[in-house]
Order: sequence, then C-alpha cells, then structure tokens
Amino acid sequence: GRWGFGLAGELRQAAARSPHRIAVIDDQRSVSYAKLLDRAERLARSLPAGPGDRIGLLCRNSARMIEAMIGATTLGADPVLMNTGLSPHQLVTVAKDQGLRALILDDEFGPKVALVDGVEKITEERFEELIAGAPEGGSQPPERPGRTIVLTSGTTGVPKGARRPTPGGFRPLCSVIDRIPLRAEQRVMIAAPLFHTWGFAGLQIALALRATIVLRRRFEPAAILDDLIQHSCTGMIAVPVMIQQLMELPEPAGKPALSVVAVSGSALPGGLATRFMDRFGDVLYNLYGSTEASWASIATPEDLRINPATAGKPPYGTTVAALDETGAPVPAGEVGRLFVGNEMLFEGYTNGASRTMHDGLLATGDLGHLDADGRVYVDGREDDMIVSGGENVYPAEVEGLLADLPQIREVTVIGVPDHEYGQRLAAYLVLREGETLGPEAVREHVRRHRARFSVPRDVIFLDELPRNATGKVVTRELGMQGRTGQQQRGQHD
Ligand code: ATP
Repeated sequence: GRWGFGLAGELRQAAARSPHRIAVIDDQRSVSYAKLLDRAERLARSLPAGPGDRIGLLCRNSARMIEAMIGATTLGADPVLMNTGLSPHQLVTVAKDQGLRALILDDEFGPKVALVDGVEKITEERFEELIAGAPEGGSQPPERPGRTIVLTSGTTGVPKGARRPTPGGFRPLCSVIDRIPLRAEQRVMIAAPLFHTWGFAGLQIALALRATIVLRRRFEPAAILDDLIQHSCTGMIAVPVMIQQLMELPEPAGKPALSVVAVSGSALPGGLATRFMDRFGDVLYNLYGSTEASWASIATPEDLRINPATAGKPPYGTTVAALDETGAPVPAGEVGRLFVGNEMLFEGYTNGASRTMHDGLLATGDLGHLDADGRVYVDGREDDMIVSGGENVYPAEVEGLLADLPQIREVTVIGVPDHEYGQRLAAYLVLREGETLGPEAVREHVRRHRARFSVPRDVIFLDELPRNATGKVVTRELGMQGRTGQQQRGQHD
C-alpha cells in the first residue's frame, strides 16, 4: 500500500494480519501488534514536530523506543538513533549537527543531556502524556515517509549520521532471510542495541516476519540466557562481544532452543565461533556490514565450519569486491580494499560528507580478501593498517592469532609511533581468570606463526578493554587505561 515498506508500513501489515500477536516483550511489559501500532500512531498525532523534522532518540532497547521510531516516521519526521554510550559532549555535537527538533529519552539519560539545549526533551512521563492526549482518528500516510538516520559507531572519530533508505521492497530482506533461517512468527531476542545499524536491521527483519521481539535494557549474560529459555526464543541478534560473554557462563542446566544466533558489527574471532558452536550447536551466523552498506555478506554455520574466520558470501543481489588502487579486482587470496554494492546502500551522510564509490560500489574503508569459493574475509580497516619497518601488518590478523591462546580472554592490537620503524605493534591483553602469561610467551606465539614484523613489541595486560555500547574496542582510549601489568618492550630480533 501507500505506506510502503518502511518500519511504519511493516508494522501496519503485521498489525492487520496478527493484531493479537505479542509484538514486543521488554523489561516492563508485553505489547500486541495492534497496541503497538495504536500507540505509535497516537504519538505521531501528538509529537511536537512536523514532516521533515528530526527527532532524536536516546533510549535503551524497549517497546517505547520502537513506538518512538515508528511514531516519528509515521508523521514524516526522521528519527535519529543516538548511541547511548556517547559522552555528554558528543551528544551536544550530535544534537547540533542533526538539528534536532525534539529528543525522546529514557529518564536515566536526563543528566547526560543536560547540556543539550534548544531542543524539546520528551521524558518517559511526557511520552505517556502525549500518547494519552493524542487526538482521536486514523493516520494518513505522510507525503514523504520519515527516514531513519543511524549514526556510525564513531570508531574513527565523530559519529556520522547515515540516512538509511526505505527498503524498496521485500527483496533485500528476503535475501537475508534466504540465508538465515529466521521464520515468520518466531520469538527473536534483539540483544544488539536498536540504535546500532545491526539492531536496527534486526528490527526491520523481525517486524517483516511478525516475530515476537524480546528486548532487555541491559545485556546481563546470565539473565539473557534465562530469557532465551523462558521465552522460548529461537533467534537472537547480537554483537560478537555478547556471545563471548555467554561463553563465559558456566554450562547451564537448561539449554535455549536456538536455531539462529546472528552476530555482526565487529570481527568475530574464529576460535570463539568454533567454541560457541561446539556448545550451542551449529546456529551461528556472522554478518559483515556497516551503517553505510547495511549487510554485505553472511557466513552460515557451514561456512564457519569450513573456515571460522570467514564473513561468508554476499546474499542475493549484493556484490562484494576486493579491489586494488586502480580499481581492478585483486586475485583470490590477495588483500584489497573492500567495496560493496546492493539496494540497501545508505543515501548519504547528513553532514554532506561524500562517500567513495567505484562503478556503483561503495568503499567500505575495510581491507579484505575473497577465497576461491567467493567467501569474504575482513582483514582490518584501512585506517588501522600498521606499517612497521615498511611492512604492512593487519592488527586483526595478529589479534586472531593471539585469541587462539587459551589463557587470553580478549585482545586488541594497535600501531604506536616508533622513531625507528615508523610504527610498532602494541598488544593489549585481558587474561582469563586465574591464568598467567608472560609477554615473551605472547611474542613467541606470534613469532612461530608470522613474520617478525608482526610480533608485538609492547605487550600490555589490562583488567578489561575499553569498549563502546556496541562492544567495539575504543582504541584511542587505550593509551589512557590504567595499567595493571608491567608494560614490556622487546626488540625486533
Ligand atoms: P565510524 O564510521 O564512525 O568510524 P564504524 O565504521 O565503526 O564507525 P559501523 O558502521 O558500526 O561504524 O561499523 C562497520 C564496520 O565494522 C565495518 O566497516 C567493519 O570494519 C566492521 N565489521 C562489521 N561487521 C564485521 C564482521 N562480521 N567482521 C569483521 N568486521 C566487521
């Protein structure tokens, strides 16, 4: 119909077909599809904003957040999904950059946005007042449907607003569901934050499938596992660090009846993928994607059993290419710049920054390669590549190698300036409970498998790695971490 395939359109269809079906179970309540639609439409009729306005959302995962997103798009406004991990200062910048008309927030973030001014703040209580006080009557499709603006993670600087297209039809979603056996009317836990591109994609898929969506405000591994069992979830949308936390739980008495655990958003260490499947079954799917490219490739459990480091193959309608500096494809097995083409590419940055395209394909900023069967491997980011003594080193490769050591719980590798080599490698490690490991053993492990320029000279032990709300390591904070172990520097020998 005229509502199209955006979130508002999907919700209308689901509510028409399955009005009594539970749409969302969150920490506080369960809400049916009919009720969710009614509340979103009431909000659309009473929000202090008009078509084309931008409305910020600063919320943890909840039914209210979905109502806010859909309420905004229903009135033709653009919801701007804000990362709850942003600092007060970053929030001020984002609010200004995005020219927000209003800001819908969870009460817990009130103090965090105290510095944001000139924007109407809609607290939880105000939100309920708007819904209760909305004028009666149906909603008309807006002239221009609202388009959700998802912010990039800000891994490489200030988060950028990326305008998501309204899916032009079912095809892009079908191409994913074709690979991932999520089926209509199942129960799906969306553990990834809804403000992040992967949680948002999960929401689009779940609504299209009229799923019952289970949401929790916080990811507490034991409670999440309990929820998966209690609510008979068959699917879970997560980021890799979440499944790592699930793996740290003692073997549970009960097991969730999961058929799909789909992760995306950062690299999935191969060793973790294998250990996870050994414990929870062959249910793991690794998606490679970004805010700008949406999903680019999908590794099924079969792919991961063949090579646990792969991000799999592009779904139907998507192209992934590894290109050299001249724009020509590099041979299988060789590292190039990764480019993606599909119907879901973002429409542009809200600040007008340009995107790099080549023949209709978008530059991802990632380096990677394809194998002879067309499987994609993400080797790291262009910006992260370390040039040490003239040799290129991909930190992700060294991280993967170190993650295989049983003593190591988490690891990240970065380049630090070095007067002799230009850059040298620094490995930041978190050990498992009760384990010990010396810096030289760490270096020796790398030395045995890789060339000497891949060996980290600095080996630093931490209690935990600094991560943002989606579990990405914030490397620029690493230098500021309190050091619990001694920093040990070696030589290129
Ligand atoms: P910014 O653009 O602000 O620096 P960001 O790029 O981290 O932020 P996202 O769009 O959340 O923001 O992240 C996308 C990036 O995450 C990809 O380009 C890739 O580097 C990494 N990534 C996502 N999924 C995977 C995966 N399955 N395997 C390896 N890397 C992944």
